[in-house]
Amino acid sequence: MNYDAVRTVINNHFLLKKCMAVVPAGIGLICMLGAATPNSAGMVVPGLLAFAACWYMIATATRQQEECLAQFANFEQKSSSWYRSTYPEFSKNGRVTCRHCGSHKINVRGLGQNTFHREHVCVECGKTLYYSPEQNI
Ligand SMILES: [Zn+2]
Repeated sequence: MNYDAVRTVINNHFLLKKCMAVVPAGIGLICMLGAATPNSAGMVVPGLLAFAACWYMIATATRQQEECLAQFANFEQKSSSWYRSTYPEFSKNGRVTCRHCGSHKINVRGLGQNTFHREHVCVECGKTLYYSPEQNI
């Protein structure tokens, strides 16, 4: 499990999203250059809107990137070995039990695209106990 490699994948994904902001930036620049020519002052507003869209795209991607990395750090920290060492009374003879209700029934559930993780959930009380990486990382 290489967490740093996955972090690079996440960062590259959002870098690409930020690069897409070059489209409205270019449109905004063309509008502003157009507005500098005689009788074309009407292009200032579309130009400003395009720049606003550019800023919005970068700000949104930055926020999503921070959320994604924070979530990933949480998965990394709350691993199976973390659970076993933090709650040794709930992992006896190699079997993990729920620390909330003591149940032995633990389900594994995929967390979906771009999370690279599955969660281990207690069938009885529904609480998430820990996370494990998907096998392809
Ligand atoms: Zn439980």
